[in-house]
Amino acid sequence: MKKTKDAGADHQLLKAIPKVDEFLGWISDESEAPLRLVKKAVRELLDDVRQAILGGQEQSTEFLGKHFLLPRFHKRLAELMKPHFRTVINGTGVVVHTNMGRSLLPDSAMAGLVAAGCRYSNLEFDLTTGKRGSRYSLVEDLLCELTGAEAGLVVNNNAAAVLLALDTLAQGREAIVSRGQLVEIGGSFRIPDVMKKSGARLVEVGATNRTHLRDYEQAITEETALLLKVHTSNYKMIGFTSEVPLEELVALGREKGVVVMEDLGSGSFVDLSKFGLGKEPTVQEAVKSGADVVTFSGDKLLGGPQAGLIVGRKDIIDRIKKNPLNRALRIDKFTLAGLEAIFRLYLDEHNVAHTIPTLAMLSMDHATIKKRVTRLVRRLKKENGMRCEIFSIDTESRVGGGALPEQGLPSRAVALRPTSMSLNQLEVRLRAGKIPVIGRLEDDKLILDLRTVSDKEVPELAAAIIAAIKDES
Ligand SMILES: *Cc1c(COP(=O)(O)O)cnc(C)c1O
Repeated sequence: MKKTKDAGADHQLLKAIPKVDEFLGWISDESEAPLRLVKKAVRELLDDVRQAILGGQEQSTEFLGKHFLLPRFHKRLAELMKPHFRTVINGTGVVVHTNMGRSLLPDSAMAGLVAAGCRYSNLEFDLTTGKRGSRYSLVEDLLCELTGAEAGLVVNNNAAAVLLALDTLAQGREAIVSRGQLVEIGGSFRIPDVMKKSGARLVEVGATNRTHLRDYEQAITEETALLLKVHTSNYKMIGFTSEVPLEELVALGREKGVVVMEDLGSGSFVDLSKFGLGKEPTVQEAVKSGADVVTFSGDKLLGGPQAGLIVGRKDIIDRIKKNPLNRALRIDKFTLAGLEAIFRLYLDEHNVAHTIPTLAMLSMDHATIKKRVTRLVRRLKKENGMRCEIFSIDTESRVGGGALPEQGLPSRAVALRPTSMSLNQLEVRLRAGKIPVIGRLEDDKLILDLRTVSDKEVPELAAAIIAAIKDES
């Protein structure tokens, strides 16, 4: 009924919407924005206005005036101009946060990346012979030096490493895996699915909680190509459980002439128990145990760029290198530059707790984080008119990256308890800031664990918090 009555008015209003060109005439052309985005913002805004009129939300020509529309246009243009890929402040305390870019690279690695990006390089050019070279050879010797392996290869990520290794070694044949190790990592990587893609036939052995050597032994047939051990990085089974140690699998594999592979997942070069963390198997240990192939990530505990590392026996690595799939999964020059720099830092093993950001954050002591928190809280308390209580609390950080899921690292956080907005509002406002801040909700407060916020970021974080919680009235 209302519709019929207002139909005429709607029509009038619709006709009064400024045309795109007319609107463009209102805009001063000092704007740095590309014309294409300016036009897009105008079109989108005018579309919204049209929809609002049709929906009956806007019923007066007042809303069609320059004074009303221009600020809305500028807001929309600013949104369109904002890069999609942005820096955030990670206040979650999860060090290897897959959704926030996993590992941070040290300056030496960044210098390598920058040079690789804006200068020509010997990516595939052998400077000794003057002939075509191989990109893989740039990091292979360092990888072998650090892990003790005979040979090594780097691909796009560990998922690719597992796929490529299985495709090379077990396509059309059987690969035996313990039921307890058929894990899913981060939603889209499931060991059984990757095996299927590689063309390997999965043979599950053992029970979910316990698998014995005899289970593998009884499953080996003429068709068996591989025994696969998967490090169940992101979950921990407790209670009545047992896994077959890698050494025993290796002995069985040798006896039966079957390749033994371990997907280590995080793959660390250093024993994290040195930092008071739990024990994760190191890559060197896996190699030493005699595994024929070991795969692991570059950007988890290793602290490097996204990559998948494959190390092992030379004849096997040579086969993997020759697989045509390898070409599709190859790493780019940025990854190579970053990896070489990281590997060089690992050559000085005693200093990696300082030189590699991921390890530095994992090994950071409570007192250091506490000092940082105190600095931030003092700064925030100087401000007036905050819509939050601000205090500091003890908390626990997480390793992340699917490593040591049970391990809490004693840490210190800034806690914000809103007094005149909801917790949800606070969370949204922090996320919507110039530099988005991501924290953790805990009961009635939002907490920002400063283990994962650098000293350099503290002033930025302070400004972001102030912008989000200061009373604007
Ligand atoms: C993380 C992980 C992967 C996948 O590694 P990406 O580098 O993320 O591709 C594979 N296997 C295990 C056991 C993992 O923990």
